[in-house]
Amino acid sequence: MSSAFQIGRIAGIPIRLHITFLAIIPFVAYIFSTFTQSTSISLLGEVYSLSYGFGAVEPPAARWAYSFAFAILLFLCVALHELGHSFVAMRYGIKIRSITLYIFGGVASMEDIPRDPGMEARMAVAGPGVSGIIGAGSTLLSVQSAFLLGGAHPLTTLLWTLGVINIVLMIFNLLPAFPMDGGRVLRAWLASRMPYVEATRQAANIGKLFAIVMGFLGLFGGGILLVIVAIFVYIAASDEERSTAIVVPLEGVKVRDIMSRELRVVSPETTLPEIMNLMFREKHRGYPVMEGGRLAGIVTISDVQKVPEDRRATAVVGDVMVKAIYVIEPNSDAAEAMKKMMERQIRRLPVMEDGQLVGIVSRSDLLRAIEICSGW
Ligand code: ZN
Repeated sequence: MSSAFQIGRIAGIPIRLHITFLAIIPFVAYIFSTFTQSTSISLLGEVYSLSYGFGAVEPPAARWAYSFAFAILLFLCVALHELGHSFVAMRYGIKIRSITLYIFGGVASMEDIPRDPGMEARMAVAGPGVSGIIGAGSTLLSVQSAFLLGGAHPLTTLLWTLGVINIVLMIFNLLPAFPMDGGRVLRAWLASRMPYVEATRQAANIGKLFAIVMGFLGLFGGGILLVIVAIFVYIAASDEERSTAIVVPLEGVKVRDIMSRELRVVSPETTLPEIMNLMFREKHRGYPVMEGGRLAGIVTISDVQKVPEDRRATAVVGDVMVKAIYVIEPNSDAAEAMKKMMERQIRRLPVMEDGQLVGIVSRSDLLRAIEICSGW
């Protein structure tokens, strides 16, 4: 995603901020600078009065300083939560591409999500675990500081609010709303009882149900942030369900197993009537274009159809072919070919080995393989 920029690295992991995130810091600071709410807790016979929010802090400059410090610390806690997931993942040898902080929270982008249920469950609880530890530590410190500085001191307020929010974060993330952390634990549990794709489908359905409930709660009083989280959960659940259904059956399948080797190529000089005739006869929708033994492009039925009717008789393949070509190697995973095609919105990839064109793999080859492999 290009609308995020890197602010640094922790343990080699790039930490990125999404632009939406820049809006939330002043927003959170503003919210906490405007209100104050008190609560009392009794601990070992002592009663402590603790407050949320910095509305009562004077002078205004100090109020804003505390509010901004709080907002920044809060999102540092979100980053630490993601680092919790990431450290466990790295222990299992999974590469972390980046951690991005969005308006609704953090997302750690991993190369792979482990298929082992125990591993996935441990990775999933690590984040809420970090939030819980910060939450407990911060609330205990605030009680300590209430004793030393008084319950209304801004530092006590800061620690108390941070602690409570971290505990809320821990509980919220443990909701079984896939792909939130609790939902991943649920998927792991389901996956130990049924095939992985089915477990993901069921967890995703529960996740979507939670998203709908959260969306309603958000719209009717819960606030806009809950609506944003609900939308995110719904989309992410659908995405992960879809990609699991594609990637899992293709596991272990290589491009060379499913590509077509009978290579029919055309040259840039081939005329459009000739290629249309070829497509009609051979029922292929695309051909690699070779020029002087080199792959020069790819031509598909839609490229041909873009040419106005009156020009079709005189145009040649060289005029209409797509020159920016993405290729794949025969030893690559079939799932990788699928990912490439979906990302680039293309339907076929030439297969190249040592600079030689050795085959072509199309979406229909992949879909056929998925169908066959999920059949048993
Ligand atoms: Zn998490």
